[in-house]
Amino acid sequence: MVSRPARLTPPVECVRLFDAASGLDGVIAIHSTALGPGAGGCRLWSYDDMDAALADALRLAEGMSYKNALAGLPFGGAKAVLRRPAGDFDRAALFRAFGEVVERLGGLYVTAEDVGTSVDDMHEVARVSRHVAGLHAKDGRAGGDPSPWTALGVFEAMRAAARFALGSELEGLTVAVQGTGNVGADLCRRLAGAGAKLVIADPNPDRRDRLAHVHDARVVGVDEIALADADIFAPCALGGALDRDTVKRMKARLVCGAANNQLATPDVAALLLDRGIAYAPDYVVNAGGIINVSAEYLGEDEASVAARVAGIAPRVADILRVAREEERSPAAVADEMAEAVIAGAQRAVAA
Ligand code: NAD
Repeated sequence: MVSRPARLTPPVECVRLFDAASGLDGVIAIHSTALGPGAGGCRLWSYDDMDAALADALRLAEGMSYKNALAGLPFGGAKAVLRRPAGDFDRAALFRAFGEVVERLGGLYVTAEDVGTSVDDMHEVARVSRHVAGLHAKDGRAGGDPSPWTALGVFEAMRAAARFALGSELEGLTVAVQGTGNVGADLCRRLAGAGAKLVIADPNPDRRDRLAHVHDARVVGVDEIALADADIFAPCALGGALDRDTVKRMKARLVCGAANNQLATPDVAALLLDRGIAYAPDYVVNAGGIINVSAEYLGEDEASVAARVAGIAPRVADILRVAREEERSPAAVADEMAEAVIAGAQRAVAA
């Protein structure tokens, strides 16, 4: 897990989750409700102790506040972190116990799936709580797998960022895609359709080799992808892809991908700037998923998801423009914009 210092520090509300019968053990962290209910997924992970789970929940909840604010969503930031019980456990009972707490919060927190949790888990939550999204889509309403929306947002953001930072359309550019999972694979399909050349890496050969075959992509090792001979690097696997050593040796001139928390440490943002590598901030680029989840919760249709996802690319272009004009890191510019949105809502609530 990658750490980053707290930036905006409103009082954070934490709800301790514990139920011996089901094995529920964790925390809901609600970072900000200035813009609306705290929204963010529920992570199930093996943490060494409660302190580690709490630290992760706080960091992730803060990230959701920034992401939701800049995506223009009527939601604050929150996250649930559950400690995975040792050995066999009754998954349905665990998520129902979690859902009962979510319901008692009365809409202060809205949950969805995240790392380690699934659509089925959220359907268990939905048996006892209304404050859940990430369920199967129905009747033309928003819902279902958010990955295609995330991939669309990344693709359009990359197109806008390439025009701005590289002065080029995607056609003919080489994109190194790290991770060919749900988002990475869909991104590769879109990039190939736009005439980009692909270099890909994934430790799991299934989708990687099929993509390589269909799109004539070059496969490299997972240790080589960030340093590949490419114009654009698209981290679509785990967090922390951009550490100091990697950035010092990168050939790509633009980073734009789906992974959360791409900067291994905050100082990497300055190093990218020094090296003249444009960085499209991760949480702005990958907001398509939460946009879909929030539309589902609000009962909106797919057209409103499409409209909000279409806002990602111009926002990224705007951030890159301001960063260039002010000779600052795009990461800092994005944070400042998100903080202004949250602070404006806090003032409106206080008035
Ligand atoms: P996924 O689990 O479907 O895919 C991740 C892929 O990365 C897997 O195929 C995995 O084998 C591969 N991988 C793991 N380690 C790797 C390495 N060192 N090098 C190359 N590949 C590696 O996940 P996803 O849903 O495609 O999400 C990808 C990233 O985007 C994650 O960081 C996720 O948090 C973030 N994200 C996803 C969404 C969404 O809607 N799915 C939304 C926002 C952010």
